[in-house]
Amino acid sequence: MIPPYRIAVVGCAGRMGRMNLAAIHAAEGCVIAGGTDQPGSAAVGSDIGLLIGGKALGVTVTDDPVELFAQADAVIDFTTPAASRRHAELAAQAEVVYVVGTTGLSDEDQVFIDKAAIQTVVVQAANMSLGVNLLQVVTEQVARALDADYDIEIVEMHHRHKVDAPSGTALMLGEAAAKGRGVKLSDVARKSREGQVGARPRGEIGFATLRGGDVPGEHSVIFATEGERVVLSHKAGTREIFAKGAVKAAVWGRGKPAGLYSMRDVLGLKD
Ligand code: NAD
Repeated sequence: MIPPYRIAVVGCAGRMGRMNLAAIHAAEGCVIAGGTDQPGSAAVGSDIGLLIGGKALGVTVTDDPVELFAQADAVIDFTTPAASRRHAELAAQAEVVYVVGTTGLSDEDQVFIDKAAIQTVVVQAANMSLGVNLLQVVTEQVARALDADYDIEIVEMHHRHKVDAPSGTALMLGEAAAKGRGVKLSDVARKSREGQVGARPRGEIGFATLRGGDVPGEHSVIFATEGERVVLSHKAGTREIFAKGAVKAAVWGRGKPAGLYSMRDVLGLKD
């Protein structure tokens, strides 16, 4: 009999952390290996089962990631850029499958993820949903088909607690559009506008950020020219879709060679 696949969650008291725990609990062949949250979090010491609104599981939330990584086959991380730096190092040392969904990473933060991927399997995606990963593929195709007469604008809305902007998903869609156009996003991105910004330069890829309420995530990629607009959209109705994707990524990573993978690898959407 195959032993259950032990998946741990760092930042397990967060909005996504709790969803990830519930998704592991529901997944066949998987068990919750444990969870951490940051020192001082009210969740530390609580039973993980109670944290997700179920029966006690006899596994408590700790603030010691070192011990947790040693007990797991895979670790899911939706926390903060600073925490993910540390988690990436621990994942490499413990050689566990590391699924990282944290957004707002700087280039310096990203170096930690890239380094971990030399040692172990890392699946990184700013959005773990099937729908957004499909949208990414389609965005690249449409951007390739339509020339710079079509202005590309990316609009996103998220709940009021989100701390980074534009969202990681909006940037991921911007990268896809830039790739389709054969340009570098950093050369053409306009991440916000205010005041006398002048007319829109040809070829720019613009971003607009909305924040409010409890929206789990909405994204539209707009291709606008004189006379018509093509609008590609995705609306997440629940965070469950990201958690299910994260667990799918963790299971997919089992036994794979070390490397940096994306949800497009997991979902078989690579060309
Ligand atoms: P949140 O603030 O609700 O949760 C983050 C959790 O991490 C908190 O419980 C916090 O205490 C914990 N934490 C912080 N530092 C820690 C540390 N050093 N060790 C352990 N735990 C620590 O935020 P959220 O809405 O769950 O989002 C978390 C991240 O995931 C954000 O970057 C968000 O943009 C991203 N996100 C990604 C996807 C995706 O599909 N990739 C989907 C949704 C959210």
